[in-house]
Amino acid sequence: MTNSTPEKIIIGCEEWCQIAQLGIPAVKVRVDSGARTSALHAFNIQAFKRGSMPWVSFDVHPLQNNRVVSLRCEAPIADRRMIKNSSGASEKRYVIKVPIRMKDQIWDIELTLTNRDSMGYRMLLGREAMTTRVLVDPSANMNLGRVSDLELQEMYGMQKKIRSGLKIALLASNPKLYSNQRIMEAGEERGHEMKFLTIKDCYMKLDDEMPEVYYRGGHIISDLDAVIPRIRPSATFYGCAIARQFESMGVYVQNGSLAITQSRDKLFSLQLLIKSGLDIPTTGFANSPIDTNELIEVVGGAPLVVKLLEGSQGRGVVLAETKKAAQSVINAFKSVKANLLVQEFIKEAGGKDLRLFVINGRVKAAIQREAAPGEFRANIHQGGSASTIRPTPEERRLAVKAAKAMGLTVAGVDIIRSKSGPLLLEINSSPGLEGIENATEKDVAGMMIAAIEKHLKWSVS
Ligand code: ADP
Repeated sequence: MTNSTPEKIIIGCEEWCQIAQLGIPAVKVRVDSGARTSALHAFNIQAFKRGSMPWVSFDVHPLQNNRVVSLRCEAPIADRRMIKNSSGASEKRYVIKVPIRMKDQIWDIELTLTNRDSMGYRMLLGREAMTTRVLVDPSANMNLGRVSDLELQEMYGMQKKIRSGLKIALLASNPKLYSNQRIMEAGEERGHEMKFLTIKDCYMKLDDEMPEVYYRGGHIISDLDAVIPRIRPSATFYGCAIARQFESMGVYVQNGSLAITQSRDKLFSLQLLIKSGLDIPTTGFANSPIDTNELIEVVGGAPLVVKLLEGSQGRGVVLAETKKAAQSVINAFKSVKANLLVQEFIKEAGGKDLRLFVINGRVKAAIQREAAPGEFRANIHQGGSASTIRPTPEERRLAVKAAKAMGLTVAGVDIIRSKSGPLLLEINSSPGLEGIENATEKDVAGMMIAAIEKHLKWSVS
């Protein structure tokens, strides 16, 4: 400790800092003067005793958008405190006190440990840590200098690994999506060579003896062991055609093209489920000439739910509370020649539904989704929330059977709890990972890769 006050350094909105005591050579910090305390994104947080002192150990992924590099850290616990997170909810967090280094200054700051996403940053620097040491220039960024990728690679020992794993392609559209990033990382983490194939950049040669898939620029895509298709609805036609081509080349495609195609047709899917003896809410379908009133009667009258066959993520789902409302909604959809399903309204579900994540005939993770207040659709894209849940054995059986009936190895099965038992709402062939991984803290992406390893009888030698 020196008595003289050091000169304040000017920092921008993002800076690199070092936390030597935790073994973190460099972590990018978001300077957040809106927050009082500073936070470090940690997971596997565990309190323990060292001698008689309370300590905490935790893992940190120090690099943004990288879950492969991971450090195990330990520090004495300074406090445990209720902290409000960015969405306003309070949670109890461990507080540690460690010296950080920025440029040539080293000073002690308090850091709370949180496993909530800190706006994508691994560390937030709050007001308390800034006093006496720094001035913020919000218009500046990396005022103290940048750290290059090469330097980071050296610091974290990220040499290119010698590959002995499988060669797995992710066939999708947007590499920036959480789910796609996680699948790529999970594959790399387990030692495989991962390749991202953008659906629209693939093209193919239809040949009986030598079918081939090419990639933009004319490269032949060869030697793949497996393909994970994550085809968004608007790319179903072409995405499935590419997946089918890989199948004809003998590559293992985790969700087959046929299964994906049929799961995209909501009406056909429901028919398949019913044929397999599985329960769905009473549902009616009409193309158009049929009398609207008859269709309403088929499902037992209002209130009822009208669903657009082409809708997704709950966007094409409408609740009609009265017969009159039902008539207007159905007629409005018909007037634009939209195909629609009419379904009995499961009121007792109270705006909740379950998402069971099935891999290889097993339920690997499950969440309950709850609608935002005033909404009936349990949709996290529309302000709903997700929490962990233990599905009943009956619900597990239903989900596993549904995935099987659809021929899907990986499926997100949506179930609604009705007074007469669980009913199937829909089966998704590219279920999102963000909601379920965050709520359950499970490595679902890793489980998808493990299922491929198992299918191909690959194991670490
Ligand atoms: P999408 O495929 O567009 O997501 P879903 O059929 O899954 O549409 O419906 C979206 C949400 O609406 C469901 O998660 C559920 O909460 C609610 N919902 C759908 N069908 C019914 C129903 N028959 N009764 C009550 N709520 C329903």
